[in-house]
Amino acid sequence: MIKKIDHIAIAVKSLAEEIPRYRDVLGLEFLGSETVPEQKVTVAFFKAGDVSIELLEPLSPDSPISAFIEKKGGGLHHLSLEVDDIREAIRGLREKGVPMIDAEPRRGAHDALIAFAHPKGFSGVLYELMQKGDAR
Ligand code: ZN
Repeated sequence: MIKKIDHIAIAVKSLAEEIPRYRDVLGLEFLGSETVPEQKVTVAFFKAGDVSIELLEPLSPDSPISAFIEKKGGGLHHLSLEVDDIREAIRGLREKGVPMIDAEPRRGAHDALIAFAHPKGFSGVLYELMQKGDAR
């Protein structure tokens, strides 16, 4: 069901401050950035081999990422697992008793479909299911 880890997402206060750190200090290839109004974030992407690192900056104080930064000061936010069929994956996990934050997929960056599992099911780790492609 799960193909691979697609990306590791890190919540940051300021992309303007963090992008040079990842690009120039770590030397990762900067793949661009995108605003995702549905998630109230701006996302910057870096290539780290087959996996990407995504920095999430909140768009507004009511963004879930703002709440996370306020609580934890930023840092590792979620791991994204690529699946072929997200609706099938959600159904499969729910059947196995995994509590889902999203019962229905929603739109993420790159027009992917995403759904989060509840971290209480995974020792506090927030996993995102992600199906690549168009969001319709
Ligand atoms: Zn993600």
